[in-house]
Amino acid sequence: MNIIDLRSDTVTRPTTEMLQAMMGAKVGDDVYKEDPTVIELQLMIAGMFGYESALFCPSGTMANQIAIKLHTQPGDEVICGDLSHVYHYEGGGIAFNSGASVRLIKGDRGRFTAEQVAQNINDPEDYHLAFTRLIVAENTCNKGGGSVWNVNELQKISTLAKAHNLKFHLDGARIFNAMTYDHSNPAMYGSMFESISVCLSKGLGAPVGSVLLGNQDFIKKAVRVRKLLGGAMRQAGYLAAAGIFALNNNIERLAEDHYHARLLGQKLMDCSWVQSVEEVQSNIVMINLRPEISDQDVIYQLKKKGILVSKFGPGIIRLVTHLDISSSMVDHALDSFQSLRPEKNNPA
Ligand SMILES: *Cc1c(COP(=O)(O)O)cnc(C)c1O
Repeated sequence: MNIIDLRSDTVTRPTTEMLQAMMGAKVGDDVYKEDPTVIELQLMIAGMFGYESALFCPSGTMANQIAIKLHTQPGDEVICGDLSHVYHYEGGGIAFNSGASVRLIKGDRGRFTAEQVAQNINDPEDYHLAFTRLIVAENTCNKGGGSVWNVNELQKISTLAKAHNLKFHLDGARIFNAMTYDHSNPAMYGSMFESISVCLSKGLGAPVGSVLLGNQDFIKKAVRVRKLLGGAMRQAGYLAAAGIFALNNNIERLAEDHYHARLLGQKLMDCSWVQSVEEVQSNIVMINLRPEISDQDVIYQLKKKGILVSKFGPGIIRLVTHLDISSSMVDHALDSFQSLRPEKNNPA
């Protein structure tokens, strides 16, 4: 049976062409800064976003954690959205790595406003309060169902941050999905944030890796933190080659993933077991099940049909489209969704 894996866009496997690019990579010891392919990737993506420098990291989590570590001191406070990855899915890393506290802002599918930020900046003269030091935005927001930020709102927050001497970091794991939705461009983001993390191993299809972007001084310090977190790699050019290939070949096709996700979202609304579907803006579909439907049984029955999906909270199922999901797989999944008759939690 051909498995249709809609759990995440991290499940993609390198294509033959990507593998060829990897195998042909020129490599060296990147701990000595002698890997030409890593250097090429870093220069390439820094240039795209208009930063001086970039740093190839083993994961998006590490890229975010390095940024938070560099932007804060222990005891400082980080403002971020109530659904943010840095808060929910990085193992408590903000506390563990940086000793910082977190102010969560209740947003709209992970997006908050400059006004909300303004209300949550502590008065630095009041010594009862933690120093607010950093704001983190996530675009698209994963737990928000791939929601895309309004660029003007980000600009307002950026202006506010500068006025209060705060740093602004973007968790841009899926920033190319955001650009696909609203036709914004990398340079626009580069001008708003002190630092950005970008995942190469999600919709872009590389097997491993994220990049942290910033100015030269910031990245120089980031190299040190990456080292102490154990993230300095040797002949990493084989992996960086996949990243270069992904940037050259897999950005434009994200529109296809978005099309598939919108199609899934539309048709799912007609399924008997579905209560509602969040508006699909990128490659993520968040499904709210009818209250009487067992989420476990939906997942189990779909699995029996060769379709893998994720539970994303009680009664919430997440689907993610990516470059290993073809149109025929989407059609097949839709047939299965429509014929699904899941069990009820409380059978009458
Ligand atoms: C996936 C993801 C990351 C990083 O994840 P890794 O698995 O550590 O590469 C960071 N932020 C968001 C929003 C993500 O979806």
